[in-house]
Amino acid sequence: MTTQGVNELIQKWVRPEVRAQKAYHVPSAAGYVKLDAMENPYTWPEPLVNEWLQVLREVSLNRYPDPAAQQLQEQIRTTFAIPPESAVLLGNGSDELIQMILMAVAGLGRIVLAPEPTFSMYKIISTNVSVRYHGVPLKNDFSLDLDATLRAIDELQPAVVFIAYPSNPTGNLFSRSEICSIIEDAPGLVVVDEAYSAFCDDSFIDVLTEYPQLLILRTVSKLGLAGLRLGFLVGGRDWLHELDKIRLPYNINVLIQASAEFALRHYPVLLDQTRRIRAERERLAGALKVLPGVESFPSQTNFILFRVAAGRAGELFQRLKDRRVLIKSMHGSHPALHDCLRVTVGTPEENDAFLGALKAVL
Ligand SMILES: *Cc1c(COP(=O)(O)O)cnc(C)c1O
Repeated sequence: MTTQGVNELIQKWVRPEVRAQKAYHVPSAAGYVKLDAMENPYTWPEPLVNEWLQVLREVSLNRYPDPAAQQLQEQIRTTFAIPPESAVLLGNGSDELIQMILMAVAGLGRIVLAPEPTFSMYKIISTNVSVRYHGVPLKNDFSLDLDATLRAIDELQPAVVFIAYPSNPTGNLFSRSEICSIIEDAPGLVVVDEAYSAFCDDSFIDVLTEYPQLLILRTVSKLGLAGLRLGFLVGGRDWLHELDKIRLPYNINVLIQASAEFALRHYPVLLDQTRRIRAERERLAGALKVLPGVESFPSQTNFILFRVAAGRAGELFQRLKDRRVLIKSMHGSHPALHDCLRVTVGTPEENDAFLGALKAVL
């Protein structure tokens, strides 16, 4: 078949909303100070790595994994103090859980709502499963516009509302009482995405049982295990029972199960690392605050969003890159993020490298 023939078939069969997209782009970071993806920069002490490898040595790669990942589920319940009456559903990253939720509600006329700007996957996955996505703009200070959100909920009757708490890419924590108003008003599910819970002091876990339509999404990615791809959803048993029907069998492979269980048994190691990251976040925020021409936003996460002089974000991003420092330019991704850049908090040395390079290029 000719190239033209293949293109005609693609036009005919691949859905227009899929054809219109670009594949999720991840730039190569080899040789860079990598501060673009909210990763924990720390590795594990050598003796623990050896113990970990010992555990992996025992894993039966010839067998299918435990389909329910029982041991890992129990470890997650203990580590994160999940209320006993709530259920837990595991995903290959929280992205997969977002996909399961959206697949469960997808259908003609179904709408998903989120305050915007927010985590890009809510919209991308909605598009991919043919669910209409509606963003409600945040206020200029990136707080929730509660009136506009409640109005949109009443008008559109969304099947799901996604709220990142703290939020990505803005880094702030929304008002807890405003989120409660949204939960009370929503006609369907409200998913509070706590991907950054290790970097803030609040969570909706303790009110799960008060709100039967609330689901909490967590991930080990930002905590320090981004390579594993493990997320979990916590909520009422009946909801999760339905979502579990969408889950592909064995979605959590044997190596993830064994690794995550081992890592979470040594949770204090991760906690120590996230404490260091939080301390560095405060130092980095302080240093950005005094830089002329830089407006940085408060962060309860492991990254900081900051705005530079109008029209300079692209140029500064590139000049940092020329100095082997990779961050993320948010300019152009959403109108509210004009002239914004986002830097992940790294080790003290990495942060110094970033600050030095930024001062030089400003
Ligand atoms: C990074 C991020 C996720 C994705 O987590 P994975 O478990 O790595 O798929 C989900 N939600 C928010 C808000 C994030 O920033």
